[in-house]
Amino acid sequence: MKKEVKKILSIILPAFNEEMNIRYACNEISKIMISEQITFELIFVDDGSKDATWESIEKVSKENSFVHGISFSRNFGKEAALIAGLSVSKGECCAVMDCDLQHPPQTLVKMYHLWEEGYEIVEGVKTSRGKESIFHKIAAKSFYQIISRATGIDMSRTSDFKLMDRKVVDCLLIMQEKAMFFRALSSWVGFCKTQVEFDVQQRIAGKTKWSTKSLMKYAVTNITSFSTLPMQMVTGLGIVYLFFAIILFIQTITKYISGAALEGFSTVIILLLLTGSLVMISLGILGYYMAKIYDEVRNRPRYIISKTL
Ligand code: UDP
Ligand code: MG
Repeated sequence: MKKEVKKILSIILPAFNEEMNIRYACNEISKIMISEQITFELIFVDDGSKDATWESIEKVSKENSFVHGISFSRNFGKEAALIAGLSVSKGECCAVMDCDLQHPPQTLVKMYHLWEEGYEIVEGVKTSRGKESIFHKIAAKSFYQIISRATGIDMSRTSDFKLMDRKVVDCLLIMQEKAMFFRALSSWVGFCKTQVEFDVQQRIAGKTKWSTKSLMKYAVTNITSFSTLPMQMVTGLGIVYLFFAIILFIQTITKYISGAALEGFSTVIILLLLTGSLVMISLGILGYYMAKIYDEVRNRPRYIISKTL
């Protein structure tokens, strides 16, 4: 299935407060693409940055005709930025990568050649996770365990570094989910896949955008968008609770009949506390899913574009 003519590769780079990285990323990627004779376009998506990211994008776009830019009206998150970039891309294949160059551009060349061989999705998988704190490593591990079970795909080494055929991109663009977990959804669509390993590089400049709080939010959002298990857990808990209730019911009745009823206030208190907290947790979980349904039916756009180049 070798394709004869060189096709355009669209590279989508979401950028949130990355003023120091834009030019460097553009130079590094273009150098490699030009030396490999790959026709390409760079699409920077400024995800509502507070610094001079957009000015940087404007500058490099003036100097290089292959650079395009989209600017969001505010921060909508990386997934929204990826989708926005994909929706304006023109290439026969599209790659998504971080603009801090933690995803090495050399790997992109390998991915492109695999696509030429006929693979429709080329996933970048991490050989190592780069420098991270122990807490971060543990949290990431548990998140991936849950999400891998929910999706039935081993996601522990997956990344947002991917190259996809136009067919795959079109499929992703039809999906109207507001809470989109890009990494899982791009596996969920199927197609002929292969993997390329890469080492996560050090960030060239700036700081990671992920705080512990935002990572936890990310984990909860993505687990609930791929699995209804938390909601079913409520039913499970209810069943376990019913089991104990039956035992206690029988015990109470026996005591009543044998005339030894009055003791057992502590049991009552414990039971009340338990029921109360279980009911509240369960309502919370239900409420969370309802909020998600509400978000989807309101049908607001995933992002709002304020400027384009
Ligand atoms: N990013 C974004 N919107 C956000 C957060 C991050 O577009 O709300 C971009 C960011 O500019 C970078 C990529 O997503 O290009 C990955 O972010 P980061 O490097 O902070 O994450 P890490 O590599 O530490 O996981
Ligand atoms: Mg990064």
